[in-house]
Amino acid sequence: MTEIEQFAKELNEKYDLYKETSLKNRRFKHQNILPLIEKASKNKIFKIQVLGHSTEGKIIQALSAGKGKIKVLLWSQMHGDEPTATQALFDIFNFLNNPQRLRIEVENILNNLELYFIPMLNPDGAEVFKRRNGLNIDLNRDALRMIAPETKILKKYRDDLQPDFAFNLHDQNPYYTSGASNKPATLSFLAPAFNLEKDVDEKRKNSMQLIGVINRVLQKLIPGQIGRYFDAYGPTSMGDNMQKWGTRTILIESGEYDPFNDKERQYVRKLNFIAILSALKAISEHSYMNIKEDEYWSIPEIKDAKMFHVIIRNALLFLSGKYFKIDIGIHFNEIPTDDTFLTQSEIYDIGDLSFYHAYKEFDANDAVIKDLSNNYIKLNIGDSANFVLEKNGKIIASVENGTICVD
Ligand SMILES: [Zn+2]
Repeated sequence: MTEIEQFAKELNEKYDLYKETSLKNRRFKHQNILPLIEKASKNKIFKIQVLGHSTEGKIIQALSAGKGKIKVLLWSQMHGDEPTATQALFDIFNFLNNPQRLRIEVENILNNLELYFIPMLNPDGAEVFKRRNGLNIDLNRDALRMIAPETKILKKYRDDLQPDFAFNLHDQNPYYTSGASNKPATLSFLAPAFNLEKDVDEKRKNSMQLIGVINRVLQKLIPGQIGRYFDAYGPTSMGDNMQKWGTRTILIESGEYDPFNDKERQYVRKLNFIAILSALKAISEHSYMNIKEDEYWSIPEIKDAKMFHVIIRNALLFLSGKYFKIDIGIHFNEIPTDDTFLTQSEIYDIGDLSFYHAYKEFDANDAVIKDLSNNYIKLNIGDSANFVLEKNGKIIASVENGTICVD
């Protein structure tokens, strides 16, 4: 086991010592992180800096730590409804402040690196759990014109710091598979391109090498569930421009692990904690340079949305006097309320879903689709999934808002 793998193993085992327990789910807001930044500011390793204000006037702050020569900038939640990594950043602050058994590792990181964190770049979006900012601009498409105050803040901070590395932290939808496999891409990574030709210069290669380090560490925890994010140059995207401005950039997209038992993505938060700290260690000791660029390219690219939350296979639909054997693909949509989510199921596809996968699959085995009053029904795309499955006069399963109850 390499030193980094050993480090990651310890982080995995001891995570609960560092977890910021006041953040329990994804529906937190700017007001919830303010006291945590205040708490961190009391620790002598952190410096707090006010960078400016959001469109709606919320304060945007950065925390910095370390006194090394290599500068690393990390920001999260430039999309307001993508909060998984923000929670991990607060776990990382706890870890850096009080690493317990991993003190020497943290000293090495802080002696070699200067870390700059912006948790929650888009507090106005986070307030109402939406992607865009207070102007309804997508901050990740605003890197050139820089209309939004939040984009200007990030760009100015980058220009002042001239960081060597940047981490751009997002969430992705739950429907991507890792390549052509039947497993979800629980985390995806990208070393963004800096031009349309998608050239690989030395710095972009370094981003790829670092992702290679992270991939090795995470494959042990979630084998086969890592994806390489779409490699397309976006002229107005933040990561692509960061790379163009000369900062080695790593995009991390947090996806789904288990929508039934971990709908708040708390395990994915933990994986972010392990991934980011492993990467920081690799930067601090330059060990990423031993990784071949090929390792990055060997991570399966995420291509199509091939996952459903639920697939019911081989159900019989009765219409116009005939039976039709169908598969039913169901999505779970999240409807944000003020402090949580409601799950709303949606019949998203009907037909031959042989080449699709799901977090939960159920073989209806030629049972007939009916409603609760024992009538044959037609399924409509977009409807909530509520029906029963009947075979030989017996209800074998009922589907309530997409959840299957087997009798
Ligand atoms: Zn995003």
